[in-house]
Amino acid sequence: MAILCYHSVACGWDDPVSVEPEDFERQCRRLARSGRVVPLSAMLDRLESGREIPARRTVLTFDDGFADYAHFAVPIMRRYGLPAAMYLVAGSLTPEGVPVNWITGLPAEQAPPLLTVEEIKDLRAQGWEFGSHTMRHADLRTLGEEECYRDLKESREIISDLLSESCDVLAYPFGRHSEHVRRAARKAGYRIALALPEEPEERGPFAVSRTGIYRGNGGLTFEAKINPAYAAVRRLRQRLAA
Ligand SMILES: [Zn+2]
Repeated sequence: MAILCYHSVACGWDDPVSVEPEDFERQCRRLARSGRVVPLSAMLDRLESGREIPARRTVLTFDDGFADYAHFAVPIMRRYGLPAAMYLVAGSLTPEGVPVNWITGLPAEQAPPLLTVEEIKDLRAQGWEFGSHTMRHADLRTLGEEECYRDLKESREIISDLLSESCDVLAYPFGRHSEHVRRAARKAGYRIALALPEEPEERGPFAVSRTGIYRGNGGLTFEAKINPAYAAVRRLRQRLAA
C-alpha cells in the first residue's frame, strides 16, 4: 500500500515540503503508467474497518492547503487523470484567517498563500476531494482532549458547511497523534485520520500511515516509496531501531 503525502508543488520554494513542478510531473507520469491510483474516498470503507489499501494501489494526498495546489499540482494531475485529496487548515476559511506559522524556519509573513474559499469550492465542483487539517495546525498532542475535540469538531463543521457534504477524513498536523487525540478525532465524527509516522506507532482507522514525498526525492527514492514493500520495510526498520 502507499498513501503518498505531499504539501506544496511550486517553482523554486527551496524547502523540503515543496516539490518542483517538473519533478511532480515525472512522478505523476510514472503513477499514471501504473494505472493504479485511486481516490481516497474509494478506500474509505476499507480503511474505516481497519484494513489497509490493497497492495499496488496508490492514493495521493496533500496537506496544508497551499494555493499552489490549484496552480501547479491540479493541472498536472488532471493531465494524467489522477485523483487526489487535500487537507485544509479550516481557520484559514474564517474571516480572521490563521498565520501560516507551521513551516520550520519560515516566518508566517513569508509563507506562500493558501487556497481561497472560491478556489476550494471550484476545485470541489471539479471532483477534487477535501478534508480537515484542524483549525490552526497545532500539534494536537499538546492540547487537552476537550480542546482537541472542539478544534476537530469545529474544523469538520466549517469544511462540511463550505462544501455542503460530510467531512469524513482528518489529517493530523505534522502527522502527530496520541491516544487522547485519536479518541477526540473519533468523537468529533471523522471516519478515519491520516498520520505520517516517523516512529513505530499504533495503527488502525485513526492512525492510517502515509509516506511523505519531499523536495529532491529522485526517481529511485520515489520508486522505493511507491513500492508496496516500502511501508512494511520501513516499519520493520523502525521496530529494529526502537
Ligand atoms: Zn500540515
